[in-house]
Amino acid sequence: MNLEGIRHLIECHCILPQFRSMNPPVYHKFVVFSIVEDDVVKPKLSQCNNCGIVHRVIDLCKSEIVHGAEEGNSIRNIEDIKLSLSQKIVDFLSQQKSDVTIWEFVEFLLENKKEAEVVLSKDQQGNITQIKILHVRPDGTFKVKSETRQDEMEAE
Ligand SMILES: [Zn+2]
Repeated sequence: MNLEGIRHLIECHCILPQFRSMNPPVYHKFVVFSIVEDDVVKPKLSQCNNCGIVHRVIDLCKSEIVHGAEEGNSIRNIEDIKLSLSQKIVDFLSQQKSDVTIWEFVEFLLENKKEAEVVLSKDQQGNITQIKILHVRPDGTFKVKSETRQDEMEAE
């Protein structure tokens, strides 16, 4: 069995205030974390971080809106995930103001003794992007790195 964790974008039916006047409409997208088991995305419920409506995530970047589940009480939040992590990583992710998908990803990596680089934040300056990465190792240790990436120049 091959397990992978992935953060991907789901489109909601809500529109952020700054995009209200756009035509065609620009729907809000939010990040969700999914576990992929032998190339099949495990279905899960996720709540839109703007309007709070509950989505059933059925594939990468695909979801259905779940009617009658506006509360989302069964959806795990950061407080729930904190219970299964060590204080050191809880303090770190809290200080980084990481969203719930990063918490889910780190928990997944630790539970499954996997290695990955989790992007914590991005700063863009012109065509240079600096990213901060949390490298999670299979033995459950961590290292934080900063990397600068130069975007490819686009020909006019
Ligand atoms: Zn929404």
